[in-house]
Amino acid sequence: MKVAVFSTKAYDREFLTRANQQATHTLVFHETQLNAQTALLAQNSEAVCCFVNDRLDADTLAQLAAFGIQLIALRCAGFNQVDLAAAKQLGIKVARVAEYSPHAVAEHALGLVLMLNRNLHRAHHRVRENDYSLNGLLGFDLVNKTVGVIGTGKIGQVFASIMRGIGCRIMAYDPQPNPELLASGVPFVSLEQLWREADIISLHCPLNSHTYHMVNSDAIAQMKTGVMLINTGRGGLIDTRAVIEGLKSKKIGYLGLDVYEEEGDLFFEDYSNQLLQDDVFARLLTFPNVVITGHQAFFTREALDAIARITIANITHFEQGEFQQMVLVE
Ligand code: NAD
Repeated sequence: MKVAVFSTKAYDREFLTRANQQATHTLVFHETQLNAQTALLAQNSEAVCCFVNDRLDADTLAQLAAFGIQLIALRCAGFNQVDLAAAKQLGIKVARVAEYSPHAVAEHALGLVLMLNRNLHRAHHRVRENDYSLNGLLGFDLVNKTVGVIGTGKIGQVFASIMRGIGCRIMAYDPQPNPELLASGVPFVSLEQLWREADIISLHCPLNSHTYHMVNSDAIAQMKTGVMLINTGRGGLIDTRAVIEGLKSKKIGYLGLDVYEEEGDLFFEDYSNQLLQDDVFARLLTFPNVVITGHQAFFTREALDAIARITIANITHFEQGEFQQMVLVE
């Protein structure tokens, strides 16, 4: 099939090209994001392949449908960037990579926890400046701390296991509790109890109308003073302005983000020669107890390899009419 592949970097092209060696689809790589302004680039293709910040709204989808596009092959797990109702109405199938490496994301979340707790980001800079003082670097033992895991699917489950391995007490919230965690004795509690009792809260649920801004001023008010908040899920799970107020009042003691609600205009690009225009993001960067990575939790060799293989397999299954073999988003 001829596939217009959007939001590609050199690493995407490398892994997708390798995965396509047997399948021999025609992959047309574009660096630009897919949105209503760039949809024209998909003309003459049969499918598009997209990533987390492509904007598959009703307008973009209508243009794709008019070009005869029948498949959106997402090379990611989340699908909050797609207007699924519009896609369904237009008869466009949406496939995703449901699982590539839950370890990649869970291990990155652990990295954020350790970095914040032991101030590794500040320690690294100090030593390079010939400054070996410890003032301000005081951490805390993770053992016996309570970790609240929100969303206990593939990533949440691995994160819970890792933190349990360190000696933390795990509590979880999920409308559909993970059976393995349940069986292993992890208590599933109400969100309110989790806000109240967790020392560390980590978000691993999808972004949808129920979870949008689930961390808001109400939720923050219920949390322990000095709580550590980690978000490797999606930016929209957090009301960033409320979190900034929480940091200023010291209610939130540590914030680790891999995702940001307005990341679509920032992440994955090099703007080091330009002025930062997002004042909310700029405020976040002023806090010493905030660590932000640019949506890189998924970014391991194993994950990129799996993403590329599953994406190409989804396209091949679609071409051969093997819809039951695809991971379709309905
Ligand atoms: P998953 O589908 O395996 O698990 C999601 C879990 O969230 C499910 O158990 C589901 O029941 C639960 N859930 C649904 N609604 C909820 C709610 N209102 N409150 C609490 N839990 C709820 O997904 P996964 O593979 O574990 O991925 C989780 C999320 O992580 C994805 O949706 C994606 O947004 C994000 N993600 C981020 C990166 C990254 O690089 N930062 C990479 C992959 C995935």
